[in-house]
Amino acid sequence: MRGDPLRYLSDELDALRTAGLYRTLRVLDAEQQAHASIDHRSVVNLSSNNYLGLTTHPRLRERAQDALARLGVGSGSVRTIAGTMAIHLELEARLAAFKQTEAAVVFQSGFTANAGTVSSLLGRDDVIVSDELNHASIIDGARLSRAAIKVFPHRDAAAARAILEGLPRGQRTLLITDGVFSMDGDLGALPALCDVADEFGCIMMVDDAHASGVFGRNGRGTVDHFGLHGRVDVQVGTLSKAIGALGGYVAGSRALIDFLYHRARPFLFSTSHPPSVAATCLAALDVLESEPQLIDRIWENTRFFKAGLRRLGFDTGASESPITPVIVGDGALAMRLSDRLFAEGVFAQGIAFPTVARDRARVRTIVMATHTREELQFALDCFERVGRELGILAA
Ligand SMILES: *Cc1c(COP(=O)(O)O)cnc(C)c1O
Repeated sequence: MRGDPLRYLSDELDALRTAGLYRTLRVLDAEQQAHASIDHRSVVNLSSNNYLGLTTHPRLRERAQDALARLGVGSGSVRTIAGTMAIHLELEARLAAFKQTEAAVVFQSGFTANAGTVSSLLGRDDVIVSDELNHASIIDGARLSRAAIKVFPHRDAAAARAILEGLPRGQRTLLITDGVFSMDGDLGALPALCDVADEFGCIMMVDDAHASGVFGRNGRGTVDHFGLHGRVDVQVGTLSKAIGALGGYVAGSRALIDFLYHRARPFLFSTSHPPSVAATCLAALDVLESEPQLIDRIWENTRFFKAGLRRLGFDTGASESPITPVIVGDGALAMRLSDRLFAEGVFAQGIAFPTVARDRARVRTIVMATHTREELQFALDCFERVGRELGILAA
């Protein structure tokens, strides 16, 4: 009789249960919003990347519906065969103008933008110098490239420089960092890394997934925030977070984008966005320009909530963005904190190893422009009560 060749999966899942780390998916009953119904419970939602509330913005809905009616539900092909619609090119031209680069190319997701770009730009003779906390899509792209991967300690540009100094002259190198780190909410060491890239002639790349729509003028990202235009060769952004829809993009020189058209495998071998998604993103870019007060609101909310957590005595790490971790150390404790908060009416996801280091488990909070003060104060009150109950705060 045939045994179960997948038996080891159940064993691993049992081990997660024993460790208190087994998770079931939380389910949204309706729209993704600042106050949401999740698993049939009405909660303040501190877990989404919908920074500006654009997933339900009337102008985005309207443009998506209009595109559905005019252009259909799908593109029907990969970009390089018959799947490039005029609206895809319109979005790319708009993104390039927004990012102040010559050109831009849109991918199906931020994940495929990173993985497809890193894996096609570098090859087996090259070296990728990468921050230790860079996103999984960068790590996967680096592995697929077959280049040597050298990791530097988080935000340590001097360590990145030391790695580069030890390499032979003329070596092709990519220096890469997240703009905003998704688990800690701190910023990459972009200005210092740009200096290092200049000194050693590296390709400089930033993944601005969590900065798109949040940092820089009208949400242009960290290159704009730090005034580094012209010094970052490859800028990746996402359309899936603050922009409210789905997708990723690369902005840079015309040659970079033309090269990706020919070599980036997700562009070549995976179908392009439905036209309604491109239309939604175009509407989102309009909103970033016409409603900058949304970005002001998210920063006001960020300052209020972060200060509240710190005043209560939580360890919030080194966050400089709307992402604020509440670091508790032990993985099972982080999951208990998250579960108890949920029962009290606050959804903040627990995050443990392997997503973060074993002793740095946390509950991660993300505020939105559309949270009201009352909602954020309610969440702080719940954090205080549950924090004391679980012994994370002094009783
Ligand atoms: C979310 C994220 C991505 C992936 O973006 P998607 O559009 O969701 O695929 C890439 N990089 C970082 C740093 C992210 O946080």
